[in-house]
This record gives sequence, C-alpha cells and structure tokens, in this order.
Amino acid sequence: MVPAARSPVNLMKTYPQRSLISACLSLAALIASSAAAPGNEDMSKPVITTETRKDEDGKDALYMFIDGVKVHETDVTKQPLPPVVTPGEPAGFFAPPSDAVVLFDGAEKSLQANWTDTKGDASKWKVVDGALESVRGAGYIQTRESFGSCQLHIEWAAPAKPAGDGQGRGNSGVFLMGTYEVQVLDSFENQTYADGQASALYGRSKPLANACRKPGEWQSYDIIFHRPLFDDKGQVVRRATFTVIHNGVLVQDHVILSGGTGWMGPHAASEYKAHADKLPISLQDHGNPVRFRNAWIRGIKD
Ligand code: MG
Repeated sequence: MVPAARSPVNLMKTYPQRSLISACLSLAALIASSAAAPGNEDMSKPVITTETRKDEDGKDALYMFIDGVKVHETDVTKQPLPPVVTPGEPAGFFAPPSDAVVLFDGAEKSLQANWTDTKGDASKWKVVDGALESVRGAGYIQTRESFGSCQLHIEWAAPAKPAGDGQGRGNSGVFLMGTYEVQVLDSFENQTYADGQASALYGRSKPLANACRKPGEWQSYDIIFHRPLFDDKGQVVRRATFTVIHNGVLVQDHVILSGGTGWMGPHAASEYKAHADKLPISLQDHGNPVRFRNAWIRGIKD
C-alpha cells in the first residue's frame, strides 16, 4: 500500500485517527494489564459455603459446599463422575526439553541429588527399575530446589497388582509448592468421589475425564501451574490456576483453584494460607507403592 502524501489535509485526517487508535491501544493495554494484575479477580466464584454437622460419631464436623456440591460427595446424582476416556497408544515419553530442570532421571544419584524427606534428610523412597517408588511410612519427599509458577511433567504408575479400593488403591499425589495436590490414584475401574480421583485437584475440582491407564502402566501428567499471590496482610489476591493434561487428555482446563487442597475432615478442604513465592514440589506417601519417573520442570512467568 502506498502511503498517503503528507498534505495538511491528509495530516488533519490522519492524526485524529492515529490518536483514536493510540487511545484504543492504550485502553486495551490498560485493560489487559489490570486483568493480569493481582487483586482484580472475581473472588466470589465459585460460591463456597460451610456448615457444621454431626459426623457418624456424633462429633461436630465441618462440611464445605462448592457451588452447592459437598466436598468429596459420593452421591453421583449430586456429583456425577467424569466420563471415561481411553487415552491413545502408545503412552508418550516426553524427554525433558533443553531448558528443563530434571527432577528425576531414573538413577539413584538423581533421587539423592534432587529430593529429600520433609526434614531435609536423605529420602527413604527407593529406586526400582529406573523408577522412584513410594515407601510406606517414609513420608512425603520434596525437591531440594523451590519453584513457583511452572510447567511440570511427571510420569507415574500405580502398582501392577491392584490392592485396596477407593482412596486406598494406588494413592499418592503431586503437590505444587508442597501445598496444592494433583491427586494420583489408580482410578482405572476404581470408583471414588469425583473430586478425589486421579488428576483431581483434591477436594476442589474433579477432572473433566477419567483418562487413567491400567494399573502398572505408565501415565503422564503435564501440569501448568500459576501460583497464588498474597497481599502483605496474607490474604490471597489472585488464586492459583491449574491446567492438567493426563495421558494426553485435558482434565483441568485453566481451573482457578478455589482454596487449598488439604484434608480438613471428610467433607472439607483447607483454605489458602500465605506462603513463600517459591517452595519445593512434593510427592505423597499414602502407603501405596506408587512409582514415578521422568520428572522435569520449567519455570514460567507468574
Ligand atoms: Mg493423594
């Protein structure tokens, strides 16, 4: 396109347009920046209510409802189970990209170099056939390095011989910032409450699909996590977000995490509590010998 000659008439025609365009662009930039800024999120959604009820033993117990649905609701008419989606074959093994921090590469050395127990001592988890296996009673393990917002890839396998049922079968967890759990569970033909099955944000968000492979088969999680932000009074001003892909299937779609994922009784989850900008990733010892491999992480902007 040939530019118009800069005659006074053209200048008069052009400059108001430019001003308008530039004003629009400035406004758009302002909206974009304010939308990304902490403190601008609609904190009223989802609607969360709590009440105290007597539990089976007659003791007071906290019940939490997220948009009217009880945390860990087992009645599938009130909290339908996600549809089963069979992941494609073969299972993908995504080798770490060049800028990733490798958290576990299959070797004992990698376990000791990158992971400790929660006290900072050597981990008692064991390396079996190039996989990192949870050991009952050894406790959670955590990375030596701390991370905030990130892309995390990790592969896991539930025990090949299923034992137990519900939450007792192949239970572990991937905890972002050691705090926010993406559930690991053998959910292959193993029913439990929807917000506690594999790839659930525990107690907060059920997955969009049940994409579990069979016990003993390797499964992948690809997690995009944006950490929460807190103000100087410790109040959360921007909640964490999760996108999770389980075996190539989208299961958490940019979900705003409504609160913490910690166990607060059978029907309640923890609230946000201010913490550091970076914290270790941790893996759960829930008493089942779940295995992990090929774990790597890339930091991303908040
Ligand atoms: Mg767990």
